[in-house]
Amino acid sequence: MHCPFCSHPDTKVIDSRLVADGGQVRRRRECSACGERFTTFETAELVLPRLVKSDGSRQPFDEEKMRAGVMRAVEKRPVSVESLEEAINKIKSKLRATGEREVPSSMVGELVMNALRDLDDVAYVRFASVYRRFQDVNAFREEIDKLESQST
Ligand SMILES: [Zn+2]
Repeated sequence: MHCPFCSHPDTKVIDSRLVADGGQVRRRRECSACGERFTTFETAELVLPRLVKSDGSRQPFDEEKMRAGVMRAVEKRPVSVESLEEAINKIKSKLRATGEREVPSSMVGELVMNALRDLDDVAYVRFASVYRRFQDVNAFREEIDKLESQST
């Protein structure tokens, strides 16, 4: 990386060690031009990507909203809380694994559908029928969200 003191494009790592129980790498660097030393910390980025809706608007991934949709689909179905949580965690790791800062919001819907298909056929069909019907009708979806928030 560039030297923060003189902006020289070439700095070399003179020491590298794991810190924070291995969750972080601390590096000492030295600028080959001005000789200044500085430290960088490297951590894995665990932030979930933002969602891009089909109208181009962006919104943060909302775990509670996704969970609510999944819960509605498995209502009165023989699906344990553990397997649900496992499925939700799997969906989140798949989203993180894309390495993208933004993904289409439809990707979340697809991941939820895949997860439910493995868990329970009825839950899958319930979710898929609602999701497929509304995915391109954002205005309608927002109306439903409004109605739902009014009724709670
Ligand atoms: Zn420098």
